[in-house]
Amino acid sequence: MSTIDGLPPLREVISAHDLRAKKNLGQNFLLDLNLTAKIARQAGDLANSDILEIGPGPGGLTRGLLAEGARHVLAIEKDERALPALAEIGAAYPDRLTVLHGDALQIDPLAHLTPPIRVAANLPYNIGTELLIRWLTPKQWPPFWDSLTLMFQKEVAERIVAKPGSKAYGRLALLAQWRADARIVMTLPPEAFVPPPKIHSAVVHLTALAQPRYPADPAILSQLTAAAFNQRRKMLRASLRGLHPEMEDMLGQAGIPPTARAEEIDLEHFCMLARLLQQARQNGAGV
Ligand code: SAM
Repeated sequence: MSTIDGLPPLREVISAHDLRAKKNLGQNFLLDLNLTAKIARQAGDLANSDILEIGPGPGGLTRGLLAEGARHVLAIEKDERALPALAEIGAAYPDRLTVLHGDALQIDPLAHLTPPIRVAANLPYNIGTELLIRWLTPKQWPPFWDSLTLMFQKEVAERIVAKPGSKAYGRLALLAQWRADARIVMTLPPEAFVPPPKIHSAVVHLTALAQPRYPADPAILSQLTAAAFNQRRKMLRASLRGLHPEMEDMLGQAGIPPTARAEEIDLEHFCMLARLLQQARQNGAGV
């Protein structure tokens, strides 16, 4: 059977290289190249960008990105069993694919990438949120990436785009929407993957804003939202008490009722509170 890129179908690749999915590596593979090309197209201008892909596995999305015209793909894969399959893709697209073998949490990819850079990945579920938080919370903004096009469990995708007052609203929504536009662009049923996971999945596309929506220090906002949502049913005066002795006054100054719960507070007010906390700490009275 022929494919869009002349390489063997992914089922054949998987059996030729004995790439049986391993649960501990979060392996649920996409085998339909029409689907991976469709996901690749969600990433925007591929022809003029370098693409960072985390976890290419047997290379379904990698092939989608290259077939759709990506200038260059840098793929980081932990499972060495996938390397021969990825080398075959590299040979079919000379000079357009670089593969690094290792843990994406440990490797700094920037030396291998030329801006503009976009990230596209069907992320391993066990490191997906951690990577997203890292990409959203660098000290300097704008970040190294122009956009992120990422597959998550649907429930995580909903947390990224959630609005105040909803059950899904929390730290992830605040950190994402503070510095990026985020929307769900596709949802996928379990049967789209091999092996099928228990849950539905969704692709989220995030575009970096030129500047954050409201001024705040990223480390303080991150700490504040972690404390506020760690005990989301508690009133804020209780959940934030440990951050500063004058927290209740700060809540008042930010116009936030101390009896409010985290899920009622929007991004603008969290940023205001982060600025007040930073000021109080700089004035030396803080912890
Ligand atoms: N991109 C492929 C696809 O769409 O079919 C595979 C996606 S699968 C959900 C996740 C991939 O991430 C696997 O290939 C797995 O080996 C890889 N992976 C898991 N942990 C990793 C890590 N820490 N660093 C890099 N890759 C990792």
